[in-house]
Amino acid sequence: NFHPLPYLVQLHAAAMPTKPALVQDGTTLTYAELDALMDRIAASLQRDGIGPRDTIAICAGTSIPYAAVFLGSLRAGVAVAPLAPSSSADSLVTMAKDADARLLFLDQAVAEQLAPVRAILAAPVIALDGSKAGQAFENWLAPPGSKPQPVDIAPEWPFNIIYSSGTTGAPKGIVQPYSMRWTHVQRGRSNGYDPEAVTLISTPLYSNTTLVCFFPTVSLGGTVVMMAKFDAAKYLQLAQQHRVTHTMLVPVQYQRIMARADFDQYDLSSFRMKFCTSAPFSAALKADILRRWPGGLIEYYGMTEGGGTCMLVAHEHPDKLHTVGQPAPGHDIRLIDESGKEVGADELGEVVGHSPAMMAGYHNQPQKTAEAEWVDPSGKRFIRTGDIGRFDADGFLTLMDRKKDMIISGGFNVYPSDLEAVLHQHPDVVEAAVVGMPSTRWGETPVAFAVIRPGASLDAPALLSWANERLGKTQRLAAVEITDVLPRSAIGKVLKRELRDSFGRTLA
Ligand code: ATP
Ligand code: MG
Repeated sequence: NFHPLPYLVQLHAAAMPTKPALVQDGTTLTYAELDALMDRIAASLQRDGIGPRDTIAICAGTSIPYAAVFLGSLRAGVAVAPLAPSSSADSLVTMAKDADARLLFLDQAVAEQLAPVRAILAAPVIALDGSKAGQAFENWLAPPGSKPQPVDIAPEWPFNIIYSSGTTGAPKGIVQPYSMRWTHVQRGRSNGYDPEAVTLISTPLYSNTTLVCFFPTVSLGGTVVMMAKFDAAKYLQLAQQHRVTHTMLVPVQYQRIMARADFDQYDLSSFRMKFCTSAPFSAALKADILRRWPGGLIEYYGMTEGGGTCMLVAHEHPDKLHTVGQPAPGHDIRLIDESGKEVGADELGEVVGHSPAMMAGYHNQPQKTAEAEWVDPSGKRFIRTGDIGRFDADGFLTLMDRKKDMIISGGFNVYPSDLEAVLHQHPDVVEAAVVGMPSTRWGETPVAFAVIRPGASLDAPALLSWANERLGKTQRLAAVEITDVLPRSAIGKVLKRELRDSFGRTLA
């Protein structure tokens, strides 16, 4: 029993018109206001001849108009390609063209940064913030009270095209159908999203990480409090002020929040459930959150493509914090070897997953779509994650590294995550990342980048010998570089490509 999400807002608007739907920086949009604005947006698209199976693109910072355009377009059956404002001008052109966007919604900050793009793209530009970036949103909008023609949305229609974060290579347009989002909303129901839910989001709206919380909240009649830019102190103030019940944060955000000296002074007793996804989340950090932050904690391991979702209900399994949990309900997760055969119990393999919520494919890339697929002997379709993992005897998955980050040194497989775990044991190491660098002797050899606690006197040679005393013979680091920060994507993932590119030496 599939429901088209943008029409659920109509029901909430009728049942609880004055209930806040979206809140940002002191501005509130009620369900009645959101519903009316979505109608005007859908009517404007229809007026412009844009309808089912067309796509519009949004490239802007998080704002209420952004969220309304996303929802309003869906009401017209139009798919949304939310593009990352942090993209280079080149990749923005590639993405907007690939998505075949009929309209491009920008804000001033993005327009300035991406001036060269505008000349290349044929699509008309609407300025969400009313700036000179394009036609002002208010002028583009059909008059108040406008109603669109209702659209009979089918579950297989594209809901959004999300360009993969590009952690490992060029971004790919992941087409998620309406049915996939609907599955997220049903999962949201079991995670306690309801009209009393107040969800605080501080990751960008173009990321699936954010959308897996945003859509369940709005679809089930809760309130979304949005932050355009994450700041740990502001996050805590908003959480206390709005009596927040649900949140989604990435590990580096949890780390910044827990590191605040005033953390325990905030009243966070309203929290019911916290979520985390998108990057390795250390067991120590999970334990600290369970100890000091009220409410439950669920970690998701998955990808925008869908398929391989695991969940760790951390508050119920305090002895499994080093894992990413068990397959989410309805998910079938297997591990395969290089030749595509399933590996035996306790062995490492590439994670592949099948679920009710899977992408339709990579947009315009049948070849890449086919490469991402694995079919079991019975003909069941799985998506390959490119991640390496191992199940323990209780069926909990421990994630190692991305296949592309695994190091083959002197014929041995070396897992950067093993080395990173050792480095993190040093009391003066704040964070560390290990990458493989070309070596004439070993083919590849591990090199570490470490951020040191301010004021500590630890230097690179000292950390190198400290670590190598604790590492196996085939794992030993060839070099350590001390750095101020690790390069991260906008969603907080360490960019190992950039670390490899930044390493200026050749190794023996
Ligand atoms: P690209 O595919 O362009 O390289 P990406 O894989 O980073 O980008 P996403 O779909 O946002 O894009 O991220 C999915 C990946 O994030 C997973 O394949 C996995 O490597 C990592 N990941 C997600 N959740 C977790 C988690 N809980 N713990 C560790 N890693 C995670
Ligand atoms: Mg990926």
